[in-house]
Amino acid sequence: MTSIYNFSAGPAVLPQAVLKRAQAEMLDWHGSGISVMEMSHRGKEFLSILAKAEADFRALLTIPDNYKVLFLQGGAVAENVMIPMNLLNGKSADYAITGSWSKRSVKEAMAIGSINVVAQSEPFTYVPDFADWTLSEDAAYLHICTNETVNGVEFDGLPDAGGVPIVADMSSHILSKPVDVSKYGVIYAGAQKNIGPAGLCLVIVRDDLLEQASATTPCVFHWKQQAENDSMVNTPPTYGIYMAGLVFEWLLERGGVAAIEQENIAKAALIYNYIDSTDFYINEVAEQNRSRMNVPFFLKDEAFNAAFLADAEKHGLLQLKGHRSVGGMRASIYNAMPLAGAQALVDYMKLFEKSH
Ligand SMILES: *Cc1c(COP(=O)(O)O)cnc(C)c1O
Repeated sequence: MTSIYNFSAGPAVLPQAVLKRAQAEMLDWHGSGISVMEMSHRGKEFLSILAKAEADFRALLTIPDNYKVLFLQGGAVAENVMIPMNLLNGKSADYAITGSWSKRSVKEAMAIGSINVVAQSEPFTYVPDFADWTLSEDAAYLHICTNETVNGVEFDGLPDAGGVPIVADMSSHILSKPVDVSKYGVIYAGAQKNIGPAGLCLVIVRDDLLEQASATTPCVFHWKQQAENDSMVNTPPTYGIYMAGLVFEWLLERGGVAAIEQENIAKAALIYNYIDSTDFYINEVAEQNRSRMNVPFFLKDEAFNAAFLADAEKHGLLQLKGHRSVGGMRASIYNAMPLAGAQALVDYMKLFEKSH
């Protein structure tokens, strides 16, 4: 049987070892006689799952003690409105638009308060030079999306925001490499790219930023109330948290984010180097901003798109179609994609090029 490699942008591939473990534990978690899905979120079994998941996540990213980790629902898009509700505090906020997701964040936040767009790339193939960003000294925060999933654009550094806290949407590259959490006020990430199944969103927030929520913020959206209640103002997405915990354990066993970064560099290099070596395939993203997680590319002759996708499926290479707003192809190569998957894709791309 051909191996199956799933290049979906999200919900995305999960480690086989994690899925097998979840399968083995599905009906009877650790001798409890019941499934994690059936447990009270306030019982000691589930509380131990939550505590372990948080501890492992903190260890993976070396999260400092003055940051809270929240396990929330609603995905990254719900955070787009929670962020201004929790942080604006009567001020305005700065936003950079570097792709589809940060553009959407601006749209959502504008419904809540006053937003300034301080940088904007056109087209979405690069991060504008930080020297040209028109930052406001008294902004409540600066929002960026450090990896644009749709456009394949990844930040290769951070702007100097002075004392303004940086709020980063890291949905599609969290845990793909080490990050210095202390440089951020808030980091958030929907789970379904690099963490686990959809339905869970992780928020890392610096303690002092928990004091700024508007008085009308609903309880489930209120970060401080969630922090004080261990993310249990209401029922948290328990099974998603359990799955995320298994992924964190898997990552720690493999040497953590520094080790997986080396694999991610190798996978991305394989694909980009091949694209650069031929004019049959095209990637238009500025070299220093090419995403290690999401590789969008086009066939020079787009008449072959349908054939490329159909043949790819026959080779076990799934979900390579590009985002509907961009077209072309996109290979998402998250942590759970093995190097062999990137190699299989390149082998197939070469084969397709030869026969077309
Ligand atoms: C997928 C994604 C989102 C949207 O996440 P939802 O869970 O659908 O709300 C937002 N931002 C980025 C960068 C993403 O990759």
